[in-house]
Order: sequence, then C-alpha cells, then structure tokens
Amino acid sequence: MTERTDVPARPSAAPGRVVLLTGLSGSGKTTLAAAVVTALVRSGRRGEVLDGDRLRGRFWPELGLTPVDRRANLARAGDLAVLLARHGVDVVLAMIAPEAAARARLRAACAEHGAFYEVHLDPGVEVCRARDVKGLYARQAAGEITGLTGVDARYDVPAHPDLRLDTGAADVGSCARRVLDLLA
Ligand code: ADP
Repeated sequence: MTERTDVPARPSAAPGRVVLLTGLSGSGKTTLAAAVVTALVRSGRRGEVLDGDRLRGRFWPELGLTPVDRRANLARAGDLAVLLARHGVDVVLAMIAPEAAARARLRAACAEHGAFYEVHLDPGVEVCRARDVKGLYARQAAGEITGLTGVDARYDVPAHPDLRLDTGAADVGSCARRVLDLLA
C-alpha cells in the first residue's frame, strides 16, 4: 500500500465509498451496479463500476475461474477500487466473490481507506437459473461446464452483509434506492 500513498489525493476530495455487490450469476450484480452508479453520477458524485467479468476479460485475461484465480481477481479489483476511492470516486464492484474469507480481506483492504459496504443480492438460485443471463446454468445442466457457483461450486452466503436484497422480488429501481440509502 505504501507506493500508493506516494501520490497525494486532493486534500479537498472526500474519499469515495466502495460497495461490493456479491451474488450468484444472474442475481443482478451488473444491472444493479450500473443503476447505482448512474444515479450517483446524476447526483453529482464521481462513480465507476468494476465488473468481475470485464476485469478478467480485459485487464488480466490470464485469470480464470479457479478458486485461486477468483481470489486474485477480487483482490486486484479491491486494489483498483482503493486507488479510485482515494480520489473521491464511488466504486461499485460487481463480483460473485464466492468466498467469505476473500470478501473479508477485501473489506479490510478497503475499509482501511474509507467506507466499505457488502451487499448480498439474493433472489435465490432458482430465479438465477430461470434468468440464466449468460446461459451458464443450461451449460452446467448439459454437462458442458462444471464449477458453477451456487450449483456445483461453493458460495459462502454472507452472514452479516450491510444489506441483503431479494433481486427476484424487488425491481432494479427500488434495489438501487436501497443501496443509495445505505450510502447516504
Ligand atoms: P449478474 O451480473 O449477477 O450475473 P445480471 O445483472 O447480468 O446478473 O442479470 C440480472 C438480470 O435480472 C437482468 O436481466 C436484470 O434486468 C434482471 N433483474 C430483475 N430484477 C432485478 C433487480 N432487482 N436487480 C438487478 N437485476 C434485476
């Protein structure tokens, strides 16, 4: 962390907040992250989404979906979030983040620099399967892939999230408002 503090943040800039949206594939992380950041930016804040799939695809394509690589993906995303938050940017991380221990490390790394919130998106696996936004549930059922989080790979349900949202019952707008209320 020391190398980061060599570059000073603007003294007047209030640090940004970091929000982790964690949940299974299809739980609504990407959709809700966009809605929250759009609302923040419209209200005059600086905001950015760091999406797990996009980071993996564009920034570090060498990382796959093994537990070790997922840990690295989350840790690197946390590093980026801290860099942005130091300059007043609110960061919403849209990441499955299946391991409680890795999420706890993220919280510790981010909270050292400012506010951190863990939001669990929990519509239930059947809603995620019915949505099957990326076709992963069908591919797992067909035996084409293994290691689908919440189906045949572990997801540690957050025990004490700052907020838990049933994104199967509530619409995107009302879920976004709940996150914004958390930040307010
Ligand atoms: P994930 O990023 O978790 O894989 P996506 O955001 O890609 O999930 O897909 C979630 C799907 O669920 C989208 O089609 C979205 O429109 C829909 N959806 C319905 N209700 C909600 C909600 N309350 N929050 C987020 N997404 C929702």
